[in-house]
Amino acid sequence: MSEICVCGKEFEKKNQLVGHEATCKEARFAKREAEVQEVRSKRIPLGTPQLKMTAHTPPGKVGHWINGDPGRLEQAQKGGWDFVRDPNAKTGDTPENTNTDLGSNVSMVVDKQTGKRAYWMVIDEELYAEDQKAKEAELKKIEDTITNPKPAEGQYIPKSKSSFGYNDIK
Ligand SMILES: [Zn+2]
Repeated sequence: MSEICVCGKEFEKKNQLVGHEATCKEARFAKREAEVQEVRSKRIPLGTPQLKMTAHTPPGKVGHWINGDPGRLEQAQKGGWDFVRDPNAKTGDTPENTNTDLGSNVSMVVDKQTGKRAYWMVIDEELYAEDQKAKEAELKKIEDTITNPKPAEGQYIPKSKSSFGYNDIK
């Protein structure tokens, strides 16, 4: 007896087992489970929480997962971000939904060891666009500083890298 099905039946030959497995409910279920596990293990890198890509976003809003680090959520709220209430939330009924003052807001555990959560927060599209513009302007400023560095006092800047940029290379 060398071939054993997950249901416990034993077979002398491999092909007998294969034939049985095709009709055995338990074997098919186990195979399906293994396939699901394999897909999961490929999709989710170890230790990296798989963020749900989207959650409910009201019309005219933009949503983001925001880490519940100390002060971070308050900062977001001051910046115009709001929590989204989970209409299906029953506080404290699952490990994913602990009974806290934020318990009925859409959230998920992003660090199983510390229990840290990220919260789904939304902001008005217009405010979001303004923020993006401000961020771009800030980035542009940094880029300009890198490409056109202001010479320190007495510092020699070769002509090709002068603050006039690269247009004056002839
Ligand atoms: Zn079986």
